[in-house]
Amino acid sequence: MSQTSSPLSTWAKNIAPSPTLAVDAKAKALKAAGKDVCGFGAGEPDFDTPAFIKEACAKALNEGQTKYTPTPGIPALRKAIAEYYNGRGFSVTEGQVVVSPGGKMSCYLTILATVSPGDEVIIPAPYWVSYPEMVKLAGGVPKFIAAEDSTGFKITPEQLKAAITPKTKLLILNSPSNPTGALYSEAELRAIVDVAIKAGLLIMSDEIYEHLIYDGQKGCSPATFSKEASERVITVSGFAKTYSMTGWRMGTLVATKEIATAVADLQSQTTSNVTSFAQYGALAVYQHIDKARAALTEMLTHFDRRRLKLYDGLNAIPGISCYRSQGAFYLFPNIKSFGLSSNEFCARLLEDELVAAVPGSAFGAEGYIRLSYATADATIEKGLVRIANFCSKLKK
Ligand SMILES: *Cc1c(COP(=O)(O)O)cnc(C)c1O
Repeated sequence: MSQTSSPLSTWAKNIAPSPTLAVDAKAKALKAAGKDVCGFGAGEPDFDTPAFIKEACAKALNEGQTKYTPTPGIPALRKAIAEYYNGRGFSVTEGQVVVSPGGKMSCYLTILATVSPGDEVIIPAPYWVSYPEMVKLAGGVPKFIAAEDSTGFKITPEQLKAAITPKTKLLILNSPSNPTGALYSEAELRAIVDVAIKAGLLIMSDEIYEHLIYDGQKGCSPATFSKEASERVITVSGFAKTYSMTGWRMGTLVATKEIATAVADLQSQTTSNVTSFAQYGALAVYQHIDKARAALTEMLTHFDRRRLKLYDGLNAIPGISCYRSQGAFYLFPNIKSFGLSSNEFCARLLEDELVAAVPGSAFGAEGYIRLSYATADATIEKGLVRIANFCSKLKK
């Protein structure tokens, strides 16, 4: 078929489907066929959404909140989000807040609002699968900086400096990170943000895992570092990972009025507002902050116990070494000693032992696999036995 007669656009032909969703789909299909699969592939919490959030949503639905809302979100929610950020050291008004259908959409709209064709976007690897594809959809050029487990999967200011060219427009940061769970300290982030700002870059800080942090560590928001930072950083987050609301599609963005307005304009011509009654569910988080904290604390307790169980178990397997990640709900063990590509490792692990994991190559990092511990303790225990069994066979 000639180029002109293809039904597909260049955008559609160039996009890679999400490999994490693909692994999840394959594991679910095996499960549906009656196989006892240990799934470590999913990038979502395994808890139900807290009841008070669901009740607020149901109430809004029953009371007739079923019409279009303002594109950037209902005023009460935008105001609550602005107040939340101001409590964390920001200085923003509700006009700087945009609520979008998922943090993923908040990221995409940020990129569409700031990246022109030919602009370069620096993405530290291992990266979240969607960043490079989103940059390409905007006509931008992704440029990667590689980080390994030896540096805790964190890039250095020197690496950033070396990657910046006159075409660089945007730097993407994601701490705590998907897929590695790595968390930058405030000092580390300040040094990186400093380089970016001196070079005149914009920064998208994807803080979707901001509340999932362990080992007594604390996260921080680059937008609060300085006045320049508040003008150059677009802060993206959402409700999916914190309150187990992945299906709700509730993302947030805070930026300068200029960028927030551009994002809202893009949204007004594409998805329009987030589902009206879902916004009232999210609003309940701020109206019942004690209940929200209690729900979060409970989830964190479970995640942390599972994290340590998986971490200890992996490091006890000959041939595997695992960095002790301090955020999100992922571990990113190093499997280089087996001499297999991460794709082959994961394909065989699923085939031989019915354990689903995502190859590091999906995240731009060969030699690692991503395991999500947002899964039952029993699955982690059983999965560890199977992984150990698999690895011991590989070593023979
Ligand atoms: C899950 C995730 C998001 C957004 O998720 P939504 O379900 O779209 O809210 C954004 N960034 C990263 C790194 C994620 O892992």
